[in-house]
Amino acid sequence: MKKFFLKTFGCQMNKSDSERIAGVLLHAGLDPVPEPQQADVLIFNTCCVRKHAEDRLLGNVNSLKRLKNKKRKVIIAIGGCFAQKQKEEVFTLMPHVDLVFGTHNISHLPRLISAAQKNSHKVCEILESCDALPHKLPVKRDSKFFGWVPVSIGCNNFCSYCVVPYVRGREVSLPLEQIKVDVGKFVSHGGKEITLLGQNVNSYGRDFYGESRFDQLLKELGSVEGLERIRFTTSHPKDLNDRIIDAISIQSKICEHVHLPIQAGSDRVLKLMNRGYSGSDYLQIVEKIREKIPECSLSTDIMVGFPGEREEDFERTLDMVDEVRFEQAFTFIYSPREGTPALNLPDQVPEASKKERFLRLVELQDKITWEINKSLVGRRFKVLTEGIAKKDKQMLFGRTRTGKVVNFPASDISIGTTVEVRIVKALKKSLLGEVC
Ligand code: SAH
Ligand code: SF4
Repeated sequence: MKKFFLKTFGCQMNKSDSERIAGVLLHAGLDPVPEPQQADVLIFNTCCVRKHAEDRLLGNVNSLKRLKNKKRKVIIAIGGCFAQKQKEEVFTLMPHVDLVFGTHNISHLPRLISAAQKNSHKVCEILESCDALPHKLPVKRDSKFFGWVPVSIGCNNFCSYCVVPYVRGREVSLPLEQIKVDVGKFVSHGGKEITLLGQNVNSYGRDFYGESRFDQLLKELGSVEGLERIRFTTSHPKDLNDRIIDAISIQSKICEHVHLPIQAGSDRVLKLMNRGYSGSDYLQIVEKIREKIPECSLSTDIMVGFPGEREEDFERTLDMVDEVRFEQAFTFIYSPREGTPALNLPDQVPEASKKERFLRLVELQDKITWEINKSLVGRRFKVLTEGIAKKDKQMLFGRTRTGKVVNFPASDISIGTTVEVRIVKALKKSLLGEVC
């Protein structure tokens, strides 16, 4: 039996896709192995959202070059967003790669691997749209308890800095009934928590109903017997309507956590980014969320150094961070991407200013996260146990409903169990607790 090694770069959508890649390959009779040295086929599911992701990929794949010199024929395959963007050019950038497949080609992978093994020439296949949506493919989940559930693929928003709409195609929603069936199946095998995935989950269903049905999806999944928690990402501020906020506030299974990327605080920059909302629109949504869901935590994505961002624009971003007080922020330095409109905007920000702003932003956010964490000491939370703590093997870790990571000592608690934990100490990025 042929063996495959699979490595994933990038976002949760890629992790979910990798579970389909593994599902398709297992179905075709291949066996997964944990180390590249043991594999006949090495597959990299890639990201290209920032240049940094591409550099990491190139470093990683190049370090495996020597595996090809052994007697056994080893196939190296590159899939995902970087493959979709670069197509045949991948072979020039990484000459030891044998197979390139796109984001829409997962169902064809067994055939493509066979072709690469039989032929001496390289194989590249990139479809421009999907002929087998995720729910049609077999899935090999990484966890029995925590499941990724794609609800839509692609994106129609064309934020001016972003390659996603070009490498993932237009937004296509998965049928609501099918999502319910899949979630039901997952729960019947012991699943506890799902995370609904889409580039913009709030516009779920717009392609076939003409308007978003994300609230309906949330409500219907909220009634799946045995399911404990529902998370979702990513919410786009322009499409987060009152019906969705109501659904989150009413349905007890939906976690009180909204990941709501703000990207920037200045209206001028938001407009250049083509985000479709202003700073005050964003604050209004935050106010509504906090009014209807008082315990709700907010996290965000923020970018610094977008073309044309002046010092005063950047200060508006800091003001927003100060005002909203996000529990967590994923912070990025703008990375120019080929094929996106922002690449050609005037007034690109010098690297030194980008770095300086980035450090100021991170410093402010770290201070806020630390203050929020300290305010939680002494409180009790329900924590769903996820696994062994990363830094201390004697401890377990899990998440509160609001998405906070809590480490706690426990010897007799199994993964997938919900426990009540009292917070005893705040750490910079997480919490330390004890089981009540
Ligand atoms: N669909 C999601 C996330 C897409 S990518 C959304 O709209 O929020 C995840 C994050 O990467 C984005 O929110 C953005 O902050 C960042 N990002 C995307 N393109 C980028 C670029 N060219 N340079 C730097 N950061 C980028
Ligand atoms: Fe990219 Fe914007 Fe679509 Fe998110 S919403 S994937 S940032 S284009």
